[in-house]
Amino acid sequence: MAERVIPLVDQRLRALRATLPAQPLAASGLVADALGRPLRDLRISVTDRCNFRCSYCMPKEVFDKNYQYLPHASLLSFEEITRLAGQFLAHGVHKIRLTGGEPLLRKNLEVLVAQLAQLRTVEGMPPELTLTTNGSLLARKAQALKEAGLQRVTVSLDGLDDTVFRSMNDVDFPVAEVLDGIAAARAAGLGPIKVNMVVKRGTNDHEILAMARHFRGTGVVLRFIEYMDVGATNGWRMDEVMPSDEVRQRIASEFPLQPLSPATPGETAQRWAYADGAGEVGFISSVTQAFCGDCNRARLSTEGKLYLCLFASNGYDLRSLLREGASDADLASAIGHIWQGRDDRYSELRGSLPADSAGGGRRVEMSYIGG
Ligand code: SAM
Ligand code: SF4
Ligand code: SF4
Repeated sequence: MAERVIPLVDQRLRALRATLPAQPLAASGLVADALGRPLRDLRISVTDRCNFRCSYCMPKEVFDKNYQYLPHASLLSFEEITRLAGQFLAHGVHKIRLTGGEPLLRKNLEVLVAQLAQLRTVEGMPPELTLTTNGSLLARKAQALKEAGLQRVTVSLDGLDDTVFRSMNDVDFPVAEVLDGIAAARAAGLGPIKVNMVVKRGTNDHEILAMARHFRGTGVVLRFIEYMDVGATNGWRMDEVMPSDEVRQRIASEFPLQPLSPATPGETAQRWAYADGAGEVGFISSVTQAFCGDCNRARLSTEGKLYLCLFASNGYDLRSLLREGASDADLASAIGHIWQGRDDRYSELRGSLPADSAGGGRRVEMSYIGG
């Protein structure tokens, strides 16, 4: 069999300069992009490192012992993250999600959570503060995160069968410890907890019903994610994507489901309720049903680049502005200006783009800007 060659262009070397507009742009909480979409959701990646090697995200053959992670000096400090987040809030962000890599690997993360919890939205409310984690360190950290002001967690879990789970995380990590993490998060009051399962046909689709049986009736919201063509290293193939409709039919064959209406505009998951009242499940169908039309998410990378789309090939370098001494008003102006120029809608265009393209460049890795 021919050896699979995985090209890796280091996206971190690329950056678009974040410039100040000729006319200062004061934050009004109402900035809209070129397609009329507001800015509501900020995802902050706090580390590019991870203790798992999920093949769809950080395959072992690329993220090996020779892989160069970002040096510590490149990372935004907690103070820099908080300052930038404050300017995003001034433009209308209501929700902040910490992600990575594995966010719980960032030392003293609860200190950042406490700083972010002090920020206020344009309405004067604390932002919604959440975290996406692989759960491996959650049992140890849940209580401290809650006390610092974290409201909820989303835990990624791709199966309940220990053998399947160990092979999907590819570091032989036992499923029982993630389940302990989920239990600790519940005990700490970090609910309602969401559990995200990436479904890869032929790899873990036989775990769908076991996952549904396990979590229904517990208050945990299980969500199924279509395996996406993020990055350039995961060897993505359409035939490994299981469309959400198929996943839903599989669940409905055992537990009848009814559609629910979205709780908030721009919500990524389609929500369905168990007809017997045992809670709900969600489906994130970024491959088969694009939801770019109301995408209100900005992503801040570990070293301070603003990405306008999960599939973008370039980010805007906000760290340089920060470190060159920009004022808060300058930062707000730059962020607003960048957002106003945003016209990304990769998932809607996927079918009509040349294979492996994203705005003409190679896509950024998910582990670098987070989910
Ligand atoms: N390490 C944390 C975790 O796994 O939850 C946070 C970062 S991870 C990049 C965020 C989410 O992206 C996870 O739920 C993961 O399952 C999802 N993800 C990563 N690669 C993906 C892919 N190729 N397709 C779909 N989802 C993916
Ligand atoms: Fe790590 Fe999360 Fe990527 Fe898995 S999905 S390799 S846990 S960053
Ligand atoms: Fe948003 Fe880009 Fe995903 Fe479309 S493809 S929903 S614009 S992140």
